[in-house]
Amino acid sequence: MNDRFNQLIQYNTSGLGCWLTIIFLAIFLGSVGLGWIVNGFLILLGFLLVAPILIIWGVQWWLKRNLVQGECPVCNYEFTGFKNTEFSCPNCSEPLQVISGEFSRVTPPGTIDVKAIEVNTLSLDEETD
Ligand SMILES: [Zn+2]
Repeated sequence: MNDRFNQLIQYNTSGLGCWLTIIFLAIFLGSVGLGWIVNGFLILLGFLLVAPILIIWGVQWWLKRNLVQGECPVCNYEFTGFKNTEFSCPNCSEPLQVISGEFSRVTPPGTIDVKAIEVNTLSLDEETD
């Protein structure tokens, strides 16, 4: 009897055996008068089936609300970012945030941008050569 039970557990690893065990257990428990366990299990199973759908639906809904597609104000690179978070432009790595559905720079206004200008300096030595 004990060995048979162990075989049954080993069967659980294969898909079909698993379902057969569940059906067998349901019939067995129902006949013994523990139908409520079966009901509880079916509710749990139903919940397990519905939960991922609800989670996926919830995540999609959340993403639609929180994902913002826009252009980087610095390099005009178009990408998607999250609302209420600070992130960097994947193209120019400028720190950005979403303000009223558009990307704007994190650097506070009033910050003066200093652009580095390449100055070609020719040394006197090179000129003379
Ligand atoms: Zn950028």
